[in-house]
Amino acid sequence: MFQVQRMSRLMVKTLREDPADAETLSHRLLVRAGYVRRNSAGVWSWLPLGRRVLENVSRVVREEMDAIGGQEVLLPALLAKEPYEASGRWSEYGDLLFRLRDRKGAEYLLGPTHEEVFTLLVKDQCTSYKDLPVILYQIQTKYRDEARPRSGVLRGREFQMKDSYSFDVTDEGLAEAYALHRAAYERIFTRLGLDFRICAAVSGAMGGSASEEFLAPAAAGEDTFAGCPGCGYAANTEAVTFPLVPVAGEVPALEEVATPATPTIGALAASLGVPASATLKNLLVKVDGEITAVGVPGDREVDLGKLAEQLAPAVVALVTEEDFALRPDLVRGYVGPQGLGKVPYLADPRVAPGTAWITGANRVDTHARNVVCGRDFVVDRYLDVVVVEAGDPCPACGGALVLDRAIEVGHIFQLGRKYADTFRLDVLGRDGKPVRVTMGSYGIGVSRLVAALAEQSADERGLCWPAAVAPADVHVVAAGKAVQTELALEVAGSLAGRGLRVLVDERAGVSPGVKFADAELIGVPWIVVAGRRAGEGVVELKDRRTGAREELPVVDAVARLAPGGPAVPAAGASGGGFAG
Ligand code: ATP
Ligand code: MG
Repeated sequence: MFQVQRMSRLMVKTLREDPADAETLSHRLLVRAGYVRRNSAGVWSWLPLGRRVLENVSRVVREEMDAIGGQEVLLPALLAKEPYEASGRWSEYGDLLFRLRDRKGAEYLLGPTHEEVFTLLVKDQCTSYKDLPVILYQIQTKYRDEARPRSGVLRGREFQMKDSYSFDVTDEGLAEAYALHRAAYERIFTRLGLDFRICAAVSGAMGGSASEEFLAPAAAGEDTFAGCPGCGYAANTEAVTFPLVPVAGEVPALEEVATPATPTIGALAASLGVPASATLKNLLVKVDGEITAVGVPGDREVDLGKLAEQLAPAVVALVTEEDFALRPDLVRGYVGPQGLGKVPYLADPRVAPGTAWITGANRVDTHARNVVCGRDFVVDRYLDVVVVEAGDPCPACGGALVLDRAIEVGHIFQLGRKYADTFRLDVLGRDGKPVRVTMGSYGIGVSRLVAALAEQSADERGLCWPAAVAPADVHVVAAGKAVQTELALEVAGSLAGRGLRVLVDERAGVSPGVKFADAELIGVPWIVVAGRRAGEGVVELKDRRTGAREELPVVDAVARLAPGGPAVPAAGASGGGFAG
């Protein structure tokens, strides 16, 4: 029952200096406070304090997954190649996959995510509609040979993920499983004390299906999301849309103008004395090899990733010198949609019917003005392709969008029948005929969450954990004299007796200054100091987050920290470590 951990026996070697390779706050602090140690690039050992935080995160995830009826399983990380070959991911994943061979030469991979394996498991176990719906999950080690493992456990090559998969016979069933996960994720991140946003995500190649990301705002984040302070809208910048609003009004006839040496938007705008936003920029790309033009206002950039996402599975590539050489009709720097012939024309909704532009005249050193969309050229397909900028209108309410950095901590995704089709996952329906199963897949970055929580809560003095995940509830510091140590151990014992997890710093020969600094660095929510007034039975209680201090008699301090806890007699703090 007693959960007292003595610092003298804890394997924790705090560092005063930042590790040389650490770029982000959480990385620096988790290493300095002795939570994790690096083994190799993106591969980490979890030391006792870190392991406890990881376990606290896992526990909350597990409880909420169980609460929506998820059944926990544990599948291997070492996986045969064949299922991933069947799904196409053996090659699609490219260098991201860790591949290996066994002694007989058979090929294996270390699982980066498990859709294939879960689909096969359900195919083996479920044969009738009566066996569904089912939600299966695991908290397991994943492997991805990331191009740039960075920020400590934020982006590892070996990391912990909770992955779950839902299996249903109907689309409504899938929608329900998705909604259950969404609600469970909200509870998980709220309980953990994380600041998060649910952001619309692009569904990519599968098309049409719902997908949302859970993003934790943080400067160290690698994702950018657009948020609306007015209405609360939030979306990954790749998923932000712009309304298509046709414009009415008379525009004079198209007119060509000589514009010597103006192949760039900047040169053109300067030579005509117009803003770049009055010009139309036409980017040439190849979509599955076919030359295609993409039109956006001259002051905006094309987001190639966003374009590729929306055209997938078609492959998008930039045009090359050779392409231009083969097509003398395409005049580089002077392309205009009014003279493109059969070249498909894609455009951003800002290039709406009725809008008038200055654009290339498809002849060197020549542009055209009063080029009206719908009159002088047609758009074959509208796509949201510009890089979203702060101040762009909110798709929900029209307010000004704000851009922020964030860490992706979770992702929920309606997969549909992609994997069920690959592996012919059918069950017998009510009418005795086979029904194809539909799936969802849902991930949480369990180890990444430790870094995300550290990132959001830490301050200049060190880590500062939300209570739900802290490695202990209270950190008791004995300033050094015998009477202080005695009192510290007594307080620790009383608190543990009331069910709290306590770290007690009774190290001999360590200065009070070092102990205080370590307590702040380690970041347990409450710090109790047995110091100057220990002889009178008075301790100092300190809130790690606010820094507020108060001197209190021991009984009051204990009552404050563990209100209503069972009053177990304070047997000493001799226990070697935390229980449970
Ligand atoms: P990212 O875009 O950050 O690479 P992802 O979209 O590829 O992530 P998913 O396949 O959706 O990741 O995986 C589910 C969750 O696992 C992610 O939301 C993230 O929290 C976590 N995760 C993914 N890659 C890593 C990694 N290299 N290290 C730690 N956690 C990760
Ligand atoms: Mg993702």
